[in-house]
Amino acid sequence: MSEGSPIRATIAGSLPKPGWLAETEKLWPKWRQSGRDLEIAKQDAALLWIKLQEEAGIDIVTDGEQFRMHFVHGFLERIDGIDWNLKTKMGIRNNRYVVEVPTVTGPLARRASVHGDEARFCRAHTKNALKVTLPGPMTICDTIADAHYGRRADMAMAVADVLNAEARELADLGADVIQFDEPAFNVFMDDVSAWGIAALERAAAGLRCKTAVHICYGYGIEANIKWKQTLGGEWRQYEAIFPAINRSRIGQVSLECAASKVPISLISLLPDKEILVGAIDVATATVETPEAVAAVLREAMRHADRARIQACTNCGLAPLPRDVAVGKLRALGAGARLA
Ligand code: ZN
Repeated sequence: MSEGSPIRATIAGSLPKPGWLAETEKLWPKWRQSGRDLEIAKQDAALLWIKLQEEAGIDIVTDGEQFRMHFVHGFLERIDGIDWNLKTKMGIRNNRYVVEVPTVTGPLARRASVHGDEARFCRAHTKNALKVTLPGPMTICDTIADAHYGRRADMAMAVADVLNAEARELADLGADVIQFDEPAFNVFMDDVSAWGIAALERAAAGLRCKTAVHICYGYGIEANIKWKQTLGGEWRQYEAIFPAINRSRIGQVSLECAASKVPISLISLLPDKEILVGAIDVATATVETPEAVAAVLREAMRHADRARIQACTNCGLAPLPRDVAVGKLRALGAGARLA
């Protein structure tokens, strides 16, 4: 990419669900339709967001996760080996929040495609590059209880195999980027080196498309905002994991940089990766100006070559009001062009 070519824009993944599809401004919303009506409503919502992303100048679009209720359980719902009636109370992300999670009671197996039809639908409705997001192995293991494998690292490898089969199918269907969401990487930094990267690479093995990992400080919900207040004046979690990530075979790293206390200079620890610079804050309903977005990108360019940088959101926009999310998409697209 030459000096003057525009910076490409993408998003971390999720977008708000329209009110006719599901409850709004919730991370675990209830669907408002059922059966065939629900399937059609999900497609309509995905189409709406694809077009809004295109209009906003987002180069690499997603389905906004309109097909799944939650970014982890949407995938697990169709995996064998999980008892959804056996709920275990678990403090997830190192006890940041307590959730009732389903329990793994047997070997995990993918009996059929999970997101294949959805990817096919999106591929047919956009000429832009398409990103499909999947939860990463460590984050899945931190969002589900284990009554079968015994060691989290062992369960992560089984999860990685299931993810890999899905990811290969999604790539074959025309996904240009498969992104694994690993917010847990910022919480269990020792485990990242011990087995997290190995599980991630196993999930991404043999993919012919680009691969990405998204590592953030979570959605803009109360529990995360409170957690961030305990992290001190400088957030250096990335520093512990970047060297190992840079040595990995994952191509892109999606990061939280806007309005965060992450020293942006830490991206210099990722010299061999494409960097998706989070330039949109997901913890505020205030819509950024394009100038503010461009400022974050320019700051990032002081520590990584421009050709390796993409403009992105800090995290998913799912819990935000719809009009705010549209405004943020437009600011992101315009800011990328400005930079
Ligand atoms: Zn995130």
